[in-house]
Amino acid sequence: MNPKEPLASVKTKIVATLGPSSKSPEMLRRLLDAGVDVFRLNFSHGTHEEHSNTLATIRRIAAEGDRVIGVLMDLCGPKIRLGELPGGMIACEFDEVYTLSQSPTGDTRELSCSYERLPEDLTVGDAVLFADGTVGMEVIETAPGLARLRVSLPGVIRSRQGINVPGSGLSLPSLTEKDLIDLDWAAEHEVDFVALSFVRSGADLARLRHELDQRRIRSKVVAKIEKPQAVEDLTAILALSDVVMVARGDLGVEVDVARVPAIQKRIVREAHAAGVPVIIATQMLTSMERSGRPTRAEASDVFNAAIDGSDAVMLSGETAIGDFPVETVRTMSQILAEAERTESEPATSVRSEAGRNAGWVSPITEAVVESASLACRRLNAALLVVATRSGRSALAVSMQRNRTPTIALGQTEQVTRQLSLLRGVVPLTIPGTIADLDQSVEYAMTWARDRGLVAAGDRIVVLRGFFPDQPTHNTMVVREMGTTS
Ligand code: PEP
Repeated sequence: MNPKEPLASVKTKIVATLGPSSKSPEMLRRLLDAGVDVFRLNFSHGTHEEHSNTLATIRRIAAEGDRVIGVLMDLCGPKIRLGELPGGMIACEFDEVYTLSQSPTGDTRELSCSYERLPEDLTVGDAVLFADGTVGMEVIETAPGLARLRVSLPGVIRSRQGINVPGSGLSLPSLTEKDLIDLDWAAEHEVDFVALSFVRSGADLARLRHELDQRRIRSKVVAKIEKPQAVEDLTAILALSDVVMVARGDLGVEVDVARVPAIQKRIVREAHAAGVPVIIATQMLTSMERSGRPTRAEASDVFNAAIDGSDAVMLSGETAIGDFPVETVRTMSQILAEAERTESEPATSVRSEAGRNAGWVSPITEAVVESASLACRRLNAALLVVATRSGRSALAVSMQRNRTPTIALGQTEQVTRQLSLLRGVVPLTIPGTIADLDQSVEYAMTWARDRGLVAAGDRIVVLRGFFPDQPTHNTMVVREMGTTS
C-alpha cells in the first residue's frame, strides 16, 4: 500500500501531465507517493511507441504499489500549429508584415501552418495570436492561398507553436486525421479517459462518442472547454460529457483573460448541477517549473479551485517539463488539504433542485445516496462504502461532498480506475462480485481494519448501487465494527 495514508489524503484529485521530467519509473513512483491520482498522456507530443511504454510503466508501478491510478489520453483536436520556421524561431517586431502561405518558399517573412485552409478562412481585421497569445498579428490582406499579417503585439515565435484565431468560425473538423489514428491506438490500450481539445459544440462530443463506439473503447469522455463557442453550448456539452476540463491555457487566449475566472466558476457550478465532474487546468503552479516554491497568487488559485467545488486540478508544464515535479505535486496536495480543512460539510444534499431534476442519476439512487449521507452525519460514521457496478452510485456519492471518508468498490479494473477522478472517493477493485452485498461489506471492513482506518465500535455505512439482475434496487446497510447490523 502506498505510504500515504489513503483515507486521510486530500479529497480533491490531482492530474499530472507526463513529459521528459516525469516519465521515468522512479519519478512516476515518487509522483504517486506525492499524491497524483491520474496521469495525463498529451498526444500533442510523443510517438505511439513512447505512449505505450509510459502506459505500461504506469500500470506496472500502480500494481506494485497497490494503487488505483487513472490514465487520461489528451487528443490534440483541431489545434493549429505553426510549421517549421527558418532557424526554428523568429523575433517579430512591431509593424512588420508576414505572409501566411499554403505553399511557403522559404522566405524569412513567410509562415506556414498545420491547417492548410487557414489563409482562406481568415478575413481582413481578424486577430491571429501565436505562442499562447504572447505574439499578435492582424490580417491586413487576403488573396487565394495566402494572408498578409501585420505584427500588433511583438515577440518571439517558434516552430510548431500554437495559433489561435479568437472568435472565428474556422471550418476545421472536430477530430483530425491524427486524432483518429490516435484513437486506433487507444482501442488497443485501455486508457480510462479520452479528452477532446477545442470542443465547440455538443455535436463534437457526439462525433467522438461515435468513433469510440466504433472501436469498442469504453473510456470516459472529457470535454476540454477552451473556446467561447463551447461556453455558449455548455448545456449540450455537459449532456454528452462524463467530465469537463476548464482548459484555461487556450481559453485565456480565445476569450479575454479577464473573463476566465467567471467562466471557470460558472462551469464548476453548472457541471456540478448536471452531475459532471470538473478538472481545473493550466498555470496552477507555473512558477514551480523553475522554482521550489509557488507564488502566493498560485497558492490562492489552487485553494480557490478546491473551495469552489472542483473535482480535480491539473498540472501541465510543472510535471511534464519542470525542474520540481515532485515538489509541485506535494505543494498542490498541501494547499488542497488546507482548503478542504476550511470547508464545512453541507447540511443535506449540496445539489440544487435544478440538478436534482436533471435526471443524470435515477431518483432511487439519488434518494438512497442522500439517505446514506445523512446517516453518515447522524451516526458520525467512520467510513462510507459504496459498491458500484457502472460507477454511477459512486459519482452520486461524490457529488454529495460528504466529510466521511469514502471507499468505492468496483468489480472491473477500468471502472475502478475511472473513479480516480471523483472527489472524496478512494477507489478499490474488489476480487469477486459486488452483487453479493455481504461479501462487499466484509471486504471493505477488512481492508479498512487492516490499515488501522477503523476500530471496534466504529460505524460504517454501506451502499450498493443498482444491479439489473437483482431483486432489490439500491441498498443501504449500517454496520458496527465488531458486531453485526
Ligand atoms: C489548456 O489549453 O489549458 C489545455 C489544458 O490544453 P493543452 O495543454 O492541450 O494546450
